[in-house]
Amino acid sequence: MAKTLGVPKKIVVVGSSNTDMVIKTPRQPKPGETIIGGEFFMAAGGKGANQAVAAARAGGDVYFVARVGEDVFGRQSLDGFIRDGIHIENIVQDKSAASGVALIIVAADGENSIAVASGANARLGIEDILRAKRIIASSSIVLMQLESPLETVIEAAEVASAAGVPVILNPAPAQVLGDEILRRVSYLTPNKTEAEIMTGITLITKADLAKAADNLLEKGMKGVLITLGPKGVYVATREKKEVVPAFDVTPVDTTAAGDAFNGALAVALAEGRSLFDAARFGNAAAAIATTKLGAQPSLPFRKDIERLTAS
Ligand code: ADP
Repeated sequence: MAKTLGVPKKIVVVGSSNTDMVIKTPRQPKPGETIIGGEFFMAAGGKGANQAVAAARAGGDVYFVARVGEDVFGRQSLDGFIRDGIHIENIVQDKSAASGVALIIVAADGENSIAVASGANARLGIEDILRAKRIIASSSIVLMQLESPLETVIEAAEVASAAGVPVILNPAPAQVLGDEILRRVSYLTPNKTEAEIMTGITLITKADLAKAADNLLEKGMKGVLITLGPKGVYVATREKKEVVPAFDVTPVDTTAAGDAFNGALAVALAEGRSLFDAARFGNAAAAIATTKLGAQPSLPFRKDIERLTAS
């Protein structure tokens, strides 16, 4: 861990944990088509777990609130979290459901397509949040996504906001959200498609981005960060709006780029950096993640992120 870090900040991630089964193909198969000659590997994934690992490697003291099955995949995921120094006391090994699984196809150009069987993730409930209430209320920041039941995400946002703990919501997969949740979010981090679905605005020009961001800022949040793939991220507050550019890398697999961004963003914000600085730190983590295959195996460590931000 870097000397500049001081005491790592407590970060709570609430979300999904999956095992990713990845096949690398020359291109994406069309519906009904079979493509032979791929390369297979398996890795830990799930947006929640990816963001927990991303935050831990970026220098956070991470508590992960999740559910896995009582099976070999769940055990493997827990072992991985332990290796990354993540606190696992708030992860339930559920007897009634299988661990979450994702089938992923990564084409040679780095684009991916994904199908998910949620399993135990779908059973992450309000009682899991209530059990973690003390940890949530005493943390520096809470980071969530939408691969968990919405009522659970709302409960966690409520517990955090009641304790004055900022909430980052990465609204993925895309969903139209009501004010009940949005008014408890401090920072929203949609990608372009998610921002379009949430606001109903097609994002082509800078003016479109500003309009979408204003539309979301109106709900009361402090910042909106719309990730723009290789272009970086559009960061908007009520006072300032600008694109924080991406780092120049050659991507091989963009799986978990957004997760790397969110995990690193959470750490930087917890450490008290400005939203724009934190976005740059997130961009660096995300850029590195695109240069390696797989979700969690591709997530960078703090020293790698700092090397890139210093370049
Ligand atoms: P998601 O992966 O969630 O769909 P994006 O595609 O917007 O989200 O990517 C998230 C972040 O990953 C971007 O804001 C950027 O920082 C980084 N990123 C994605 N693609 C590239 C790329 N080709 N080169 C550099 N950084 C990238």
